[in-house]
Order: sequence, then structure tokens, then C-alpha cells
Amino acid sequence: MIGLIGGMSWESSAQYYRLINEGVRDRLGGVASARLLMWSFDFARIEALQHAGDWDALAGEMVVAAKALQKGGADFLVLCTNTMHRCAWAIDAAVKIPLLHIADPTAEAIQAAGFTKVGLLGTAFTMEQDFYRGRLTDKFGLEVLIPDAEDRAAVHGIIYRELVTGQVLESSRQVYREVIDRLVACGAQAIILGCTEIMLLIGEDDSPVPVFDTTTLHAQAAVTRALGE
Ligand code: GLU
Repeated sequence: MIGLIGGMSWESSAQYYRLINEGVRDRLGGVASARLLMWSFDFARIEALQHAGDWDALAGEMVVAAKALQKGGADFLVLCTNTMHRCAWAIDAAVKIPLLHIADPTAEAIQAAGFTKVGLLGTAFTMEQDFYRGRLTDKFGLEVLIPDAEDRAAVHGIIYRELVTGQVLESSRQVYREVIDRLVACGAQAIILGCTEIMLLIGEDDSPVPVFDTTTLHAQAAVTRALGE
């Protein structure tokens, strides 16, 4: 049984739910679907703690969810957000079941495609802090480029003002396209959609280099693990 820690935001958790169920059906056929539990947070509370920089409180929230899913029978955990992997250490320390880290299937797919230098788009927390880039660099040897300060603010603002509330605007798609073009001009061979809502806005057609969507790759990895493949 898969344990999903979601609601951050539910717009992307809904994509996980769909992708995981589709993945199980594709592999098993018929009317097969995934055995899963989801803990879904009120994102208003999570977002307020994030912007207050209260990562201790956020770690406590993630641990409550992880323990509840473990108790409910989950065999492993999927944290349906890149940003909250800042608190992955707390989850790892609090439960016996493994956390399938979102950066790992993403980095493995990038390595398999032969890329070494990638552009990273996500929240300011994900782009600027070490918990995510550090894993890509230290564990997988990837060189990670991030947008400049102005572009980071634009990318972050569109996530929190629009994407987490389900607004997908053409004007924002254009902003992201231009940010991607600038990363490619700096040498990015591929782009990580390192926020689980970006796939609502950006696809392969919006980038001159391949994009790696963390939501899809994470959901696929969850299916592979759940089916013991
Ligand atoms: N879902 C987003 C992410 O993957 C942002 C929302 C959040 O901060 O949890 O980072």
C-alpha cells in the first residue's frame, strides 16, 4: 500500500492520484487500480509556515502525517511536493517505512538520458536552499543551474499565486518559457520541473531541451515500487 502525503497543493496531489492509478492499470490491465492512502493537508496552513520560515513546525506536521500513514498500513511513503522534502530527514527519523525521495527518480532519469548539466525550476525554497540541489549534486553528480534572482521571484510567484489555486495562464507560460530559454543559454541540457504543479503549465513543447517532470517521474517510481518491479 502506497502512503501519499499530499495537499501541497491538492492540485498536484490530484495528478499523483491519477498518474498512479493509470500506471497500475497500464501494468496490470483490466480494472486494476492502486492500493493507497492519502493524507491531505490544508495548504493554507502549510504555505503560511513556509513563508514564515518555520521549518521545525513543518517537520512536525510531516511527521504526524507519516506516522498516521504508517499506522494505516502504508508500506512506503510518497511526499507529493518537492519543497517539503526540506523535511525529509524528519520523516526518515520518525517512521520505519521508507520515503521515496522525489529527487531520486528524477536524477536517475536524467542520468539515463545522459545529461549532466540541468536547469532547476521550483519554489524559491527548492531553487535556493541546499536540501534539493545538494542531493542532485552530491548523490548523482549533476551540475544544477538556477534562474537569476528576478526570474526566481517570477517562477515562485506564479506557483503560489496561480498554480496551487488551479490557474493556468498563457501569460505565465510565456514567462516560464523565457526563463527556460535563459537557463538553456547558460548551458542547461535539460530542465527539471521541480515543483509538482509546474506540469500543469509547462510541457515538452515549451522548452528547446527535454523537461523532466518530478510529478510524473515520482508517481511512476511509486507504481514500480508498489508492484515490486
Ligand atoms: N508543490 C510544490 C512543490 O513541489 C509547491 C507547493 C509546496 O510548497 O509544497 O514544491
